[in-house]
Amino acid sequence: MSARQLGMVIDLNKCIGCQTCTLACKSQWTDRDGREFMYWNHVETKPGKGYPRGWEEAGGGWERDGEKLRPGRLPRLAEDYGVPAGFGHDATLFGAGNAPLRPDEPMQWGPNWEEDQGAGEFPNGFFFYLPRLCNHCSKPACVAACPRQAVVKREEDGIVLVDQARCRGYRYCVAACPYKKIYFNPLAGRSEKCIFCYPRVEKGIPQACAYQCVGRARHVAWLDDREGAVHRLVRQWKVALPLHPEFGTQPNVYYVPPLSPPSFGPDGAPSDAARIPDSYLASLFGPGVHAALGTLQREIAKKQAGEASALIDLLIAFRHGDMFRLDRPREPRR
Ligand code: SF4
Ligand code: SF4
Repeated sequence: MSARQLGMVIDLNKCIGCQTCTLACKSQWTDRDGREFMYWNHVETKPGKGYPRGWEEAGGGWERDGEKLRPGRLPRLAEDYGVPAGFGHDATLFGAGNAPLRPDEPMQWGPNWEEDQGAGEFPNGFFFYLPRLCNHCSKPACVAACPRQAVVKREEDGIVLVDQARCRGYRYCVAACPYKKIYFNPLAGRSEKCIFCYPRVEKGIPQACAYQCVGRARHVAWLDDREGAVHRLVRQWKVALPLHPEFGTQPNVYYVPPLSPPSFGPDGAPSDAARIPDSYLASLFGPGVHAALGTLQREIAKKQAGEASALIDLLIAFRHGDMFRLDRPREPRR
């Protein structure tokens, strides 16, 4: 645990899957030097195998007792990340004729491979977008797995970083992270990951993915800041939940779960069941998702009836600047 923890809440009801966050991150941090295949932030369609392929079944994290690391496997470059992925630019730009842009080799996978596919049968098909980044966990498996203490959690803000001078590229951290959000850089021979834009954070500027989010889906604040959106949504309203809490790493990126329209019954009339099965959402966000969805529905109903709802106003985020509180002094411990 760090003295203070910076957190992020992503409202899945506002994410439109535009990937602006993905590009804001990629163009700033991972566009060259062995990082081409890395997506420190990406947005995947759920249900689906995600990126890297099958990360939810790749192991890692902690055993249920919270004492022992659970074994995890390394994602494979071609099969799970989709590397290499050249697109024949030379043939198109400099070759004879009009060669179309197409992958140099048949691709097996890639980020966003299953965009908008989802699940369910017509007329009850469904999907939603799930932005993913390192969770800067309070009990990070990546830190525990490194025999050289090269992965560190900063005391002042809880950001998890790889000390490039200490890392020897053993990749224990890659296998240990159950979210598969550490990547091995084959050129550098070291592991690399999302740095929660710490150079920006140190200047009081939000992460690029959050600041550029056109859906106004991302809130950033200290978890102990009672006026901040993260504390209010996670601790007060309890409508923002960690992804796969059973992995045991205690993530600090939280999600407001997606609401959905009713599914249609066999007679074609809307039924009482939500289009996105509650059981599926519980498999992602834990059992707390039922209460969270209930709270969201009640507060939306109040707003629709013309009553006040501090929760819905907070989620709407009328003013972009109100979504970020990085420079507040720490509250005294109670
Ligand atoms: S998400 Fe993975 S890489 Fe990030 S802190 Fe947690 S265990 Fe480590
Ligand atoms: S920029 Fe915002 S709305 Fe667009 S995909 Fe990312 S989180 Fe979703």
